[in-house]
Order: sequence, then C-alpha cells, then structure tokens
Amino acid sequence: MIIKYTNYSDGVHHIELKKSAEKLNLGEPFTGDVLLNCKMDKSLSQIACDCELSVKLNLTCDRCTKEFTSERKAEFQIIYLFSKEGIEEDDINVHYLSPEIDKINLSEDTIEYCKLSIPLKILCDENCKGLCLKCGADLNKETCGCVKENFNPVWDELKKLKDRSNN
Ligand SMILES: [Zn+2]
Ligand SMILES: [Zn+2]
Repeated sequence: MIIKYTNYSDGVHHIELKKSAEKLNLGEPFTGDVLLNCKMDKSLSQIACDCELSVKLNLTCDRCTKEFTSERKAEFQIIYLFSKEGIEEDDINVHYLSPEIDKINLSEDTIEYCKLSIPLKILCDENCKGLCLKCGADLNKETCGCVKENFNPVWDELKKLKDRSNN
C-alpha cells in the first residue's frame, strides 16, 4: 500500500492499491484481498488521500450461527503535511511527511480501518429469524412446532389492559 508520490505531478490522481489481508498481517476474520481506491490530491504543502476501502470478512451470524463472507467498505481521509506546523497530536488522520521521503505508506491506516470495519452485531441478513430457543431449528429454513412465548412482562401488562378495555 505504498505510493511513490514523487512520480506524480501536482493535482488529483486516482490510484488503486491491492494487497492480501495475509500480507497486511490481518488474521481472522479477514480473507482475500484488501482493495484501496485512493484519490490522491498532491500540492506543494500537502498530499491529501481520500481512500475507499473494501475488505472481505468471514463471519458467523450471531442469531443463526451461519458462516458467511461479507464485504465491508469504509472511507477515510489521510493528509500528509510537509511541515510539522498545524499537526495536532491526537489527529490520527494527519501525518507529517519528511520532504526527504519520496513515498507514502497507507498500510498502517488501512489496517486500522479494516479492524474498525468488523461489525459489532453480526447478522447474515437484517431479517435473520435466528434459531428457535427451544428446539434449535433454523427458523430461516423451517418453522418448528414450538409455541412462541412472550417473555416480556411489559407486553403482558399491555395485553391485560387491552383485554380489559375490550370487555
Ligand atoms: Zn443468521
Ligand atoms: Zn422450536
């Protein structure tokens, strides 16, 4: 994920970078290639990279335990400044670039954003019905005979009120 920026004139360039998750030292759940679509805007004082990241993950659904591969996308911007002035230490998206260095390396930032792309809640499908809590049947594939019970006491109270108002 290295760009030899000195090969490019000032202005906007579209650069596609590709590296396997393995070569980026991204272990599970990452798989396949990591693609980075970089719009590099080079000027005298800085290089701004608008990046579109695409990465594949092997995931297991939290609801039905199905294993599936999901493509995740992320966008981020990295700015390289040729001067240390104006760089705030806590700004993780701004880097200082010594004028003696002729390359920028987006690998570390790409790795970070790959890690951030792992979803907190993993679902094979937004409408995944999950497994029956009683018999373990995959409710996406079959309907089991188990009686659906309502465990929510608030709902029971509402039902009682409704029954009462109906009478
Ligand atoms: Zn599922
Ligand atoms: Zn069941």
